[in-house]
Amino acid sequence: MIAAAKIAPPAWMAEAPTERLFAALGAAGITARFVGGCVRNAVLDRPIDDLDLAVDKPPETVMRALEAAKIKVVPTGLKHGTVTAIADSRVFELTTLRRDVETDGRRAVVAFTDDWLEDAGRRDFTFNALYADRDGTLYDPFDGRADLAAGRVRFIGDADTRIAEDRLRVLRFFRFHAWYGRPPLDGAGYQACARNAATLVGLSGERVRKELLRTLAAPGAADAVDAMREAGVLDHWLPEYAGSTRLRALMAREDEADGLRRLAAILPADAGAVAIGKRLKLSTQETLRLEVMLAREPAIDIAGGPRAWRAGIYRLGNGLYADRLLLAIDRPGDWRAALALARGWTPPELPVSGGDALKLGLKPGPKVGTLIDAVERWWIAGDFTADRAACLAELERLVAAA
Ligand code: ATP
Ligand code: MG
Repeated sequence: MIAAAKIAPPAWMAEAPTERLFAALGAAGITARFVGGCVRNAVLDRPIDDLDLAVDKPPETVMRALEAAKIKVVPTGLKHGTVTAIADSRVFELTTLRRDVETDGRRAVVAFTDDWLEDAGRRDFTFNALYADRDGTLYDPFDGRADLAAGRVRFIGDADTRIAEDRLRVLRFFRFHAWYGRPPLDGAGYQACARNAATLVGLSGERVRKELLRTLAAPGAADAVDAMREAGVLDHWLPEYAGSTRLRALMAREDEADGLRRLAAILPADAGAVAIGKRLKLSTQETLRLEVMLAREPAIDIAGGPRAWRAGIYRLGNGLYADRLLLAIDRPGDWRAALALARGWTPPELPVSGGDALKLGLKPGPKVGTLIDAVERWWIAGDFTADRAACLAELERLVAAA
């Protein structure tokens, strides 16, 4: 592989843990290069998620070299050639150069190689096959930087063949477009994705969930999901898709990108959160959050001002209230001020409890809960101004009246 250029190494490339890692590998005659997302993002001057490295020796050799240098190493995926190194709390994923021996559309059988070009050729998109030495020397065998500059997600080789090897690449195509692409989508890639959309049925819910949520979290999410729908990619996994109008409105007002919230924005009000949660392998907590986000009732009262906002935040909790508020696209009121409150105000705790009711002579039972609920409603209606003494007095009044 021929060096193509040199970039100024970003901090993570130059810092001490990286130096230690490369020294340990070098001492054992192993060549390592950064690869994939971290190099792509370094070229773009964007922050990175994880540090992936390609190495030209088998994983056992890599492990021995790191252990000899007292760098912690975990055999996270020996069969696939991957070990994880932790140097001074920096985490690196090191994967031995590979070539595909057998593919079935889902899992590949790989063989290790010392041929950098072979390793590059099995990667998905041109700009994901960028490699870098520790000093910033770049290798770009498929002209990925030109595609990156043009905002073009281009399959390495024939798109249909690459998708037949691994159909997850259909979803990755739209995900990377949403993050790094500019319209229009690469025509050949898009057509191949559309032709192969029906094969996505066989993917696992976990993988689809990860791709979908990451696509939704991207700056280009709205165009991407529209294109996915158009290509038939959502037919099986998200037939509920209701268009991107609400998503676009949400994206114009949200203070942080959140995949799950954006998912709620592309679903109709009557979508079944539980069924979708099951299909996309959402956690119980995520499913619950989706359910609350989809619920149109009780409607969020934005026009009601700070008192109504505080009551809502108290009832739903800060996070869910912000979710509902951001999704209440067409409701009138100062949603910006309401959002600021949801982000900054900590709801107080009700100053009385069931124990107080018992001390007033009430017998344990459902009546206690009913009375405390009544005090709570009164306390909320008074905008949380009543202190413990006032709440106790109200409780006493209700007990006497009961
Ligand atoms: P991100 O910033 O989202 O982590 P990434 O490019 O690092 O982006 P990963 O999913 O972490 O994406 O994969 C790391 C690299 O491995 C990719 O850049 C690509 O070269 C290769 N790769 C990952 N998944 C596939 C796949 N399904 N088919 C081909 N190559 C893949
Ligand atoms: Mg990555």
